[in-house]
Amino acid sequence: MANMLDFLFVIINEIRSYFVPERVIYKVEGECKKCGKCCNYMYSYDTYTEKEFKIMQFLFPAYKRFYIKGKDENGNLIFACKLVTKEGLCSDYAHRLQMCRKYPVKKLAFPAKLHEGCGYRVVNKNFEDYLR
Ligand code: SF4
Ligand code: SF4
Repeated sequence: MANMLDFLFVIINEIRSYFVPERVIYKVEGECKKCGKCCNYMYSYDTYTEKEFKIMQFLFPAYKRFYIKGKDENGNLIFACKLVTKEGLCSDYAHRLQMCRKYPVKKLAFPAKLHEGCGYRVVNKNFEDYLR
C-alpha cells in the first residue's frame, strides 16, 4: 500500500513540476556593434511553412520586407530582411518595425542565444543565483 502511495506522489509531483513557472530572469546586456547579423538571419516562432509566411505577409504587409533565406539543419525557416545594407545597417531605420526597435529585449524568461559576435550577451544565472 505504501509503495502504491509513493508511486502516486511521484506521479503527482512529476506532473506538478511541469506547471512551476521559471522565476529566473535572464538579463540581456551590451550594445549593438551594427554587424547586421540579426537582420540577415532570423527565426519566427509562429511561421513554419512558406504558405504560413505568405499568409503573414498578406495580414501584415510590413512583413513583405522579409524573405525566406533558407532552412537550418532542423528544417526551420531562416528569414532575412531586404532592407539591410551590405554594411549591415538598416536602410530605412526611421521606419523600422517595432520588433526591430525592441531587439534584443532586455529581459528574458529563458536562456537564449544571440548571434555569434553580437555586442549583446545573455547574462546566465548560476546555481547560487537560482537559490536567491
Ligand atoms: S547581431 Fe547584435 S551587434 Fe549585430 S546588429 Fe544585431 S544586435 Fe547589433
Ligand atoms: S527593417 Fe531594418 S532593422 Fe528591421 S530587420 Fe530590416 S534592416 Fe533590420
